Amino acid sequence: MIIGNMQQIHFNSINKKKQLMECGGIGLEVIKSLELNGSLNALTIDVEDWFQVANLQDIVNFKDWDKFESRISLTLTQILNLLCEKNVGATFFVLGWIAERFPALIKQIDDYGHEIATHGYSHRCIYEMNEREFKSDLQKSIELIGNITGKDILGYRAPNYSIIPNTIWAFKILAQCGIRYDSSIFPIKHNRGGFVSAPRFPFIIDLEQDGKLIEFPLSTIRLLGNNFPVAGGAYLRLYPYWFIRSALRKLNDAGKPVIIYIHPWEIDYFQPRLKTNFSSRLKHYGNLALTEQKIKKLLSDFQFASISEVIGLA
Ligand SMILES: [Zn+2]
Repeated sequence: MIIGNMQQIHFNSINKKKQLMECGGIGLEVIKSLELNGSLNALTIDVEDWFQVANLQDIVNFKDWDKFESRISLTLTQILNLLCEKNVGATFFVLGWIAERFPALIKQIDDYGHEIATHGYSHRCIYEMNEREFKSDLQKSIELIGNITGKDILGYRAPNYSIIPNTIWAFKILAQCGIRYDSSIFPIKHNRGGFVSAPRFPFIIDLEQDGKLIEFPLSTIRLLGNNFPVAGGAYLRLYPYWFIRSALRKLNDAGKPVIIYIHPWEIDYFQPRLKTNFSSRLKHYGNLALTEQKIKKLLSDFQFASISEVIGLA
């Protein structure tokens, strides 16, 4: 791993740094950006079932999850086959609830040589938990997943990218639980949060006595003076492929690695359809039939690997 020198601090604005420190009160300070190979990108898969997502949260309760038809074995196997066909490694952020019910499936991801990281246990947003609840949710997932693979869990992604200015206290807990990198910051304005003032590219956070943590924010491009998401999920499904390819090319040409996120349910056109509002319907069900083809094109046009490989932890 090559670390940039002190002149390359992304957060060189004292006000922004102060703002971060005040938000969490933990002396959080971005100390260095990471210089990485700009053409090696990170491919990530958030392993959760179709009914566990933010867009359906208002109509599906956590306590009812067991009543829904699980399609994770089907969709995840499809993704594993696709990656095998393209010979690409990835990071799988596994939900503890899934690991608890489908240990053989999680073992299979590991057997295929991919990296397994955690997406927490219950898919609760960090801003809906206090520090104790967050730690317990995280530890439960680490224990479940670690018992299946027998390996250390190095990475974490928060449900709904819920590390925002008000929840940066989570970094300290992540480091205390052995997490070495996080990929939960979406540097955009978003109705459920977003962290628009955060750096757009990988950086190291100094947590003082708790050590250091690498953050790999979700990819954005600058458009009309704003950060514009191009990283995956509904954006990947709804934008035309030529636009995504040109955005990713631009980032790689500037020496910046891209991070893509997809969910197994996003390639499942035949999943059950729940009645919800128009916006949630569009974000959850829009272009499901086209996702697999888009992923295939991405894997052909760009070079991908797991996060650990991209940031030099592997
Ligand atoms: Zn999720």
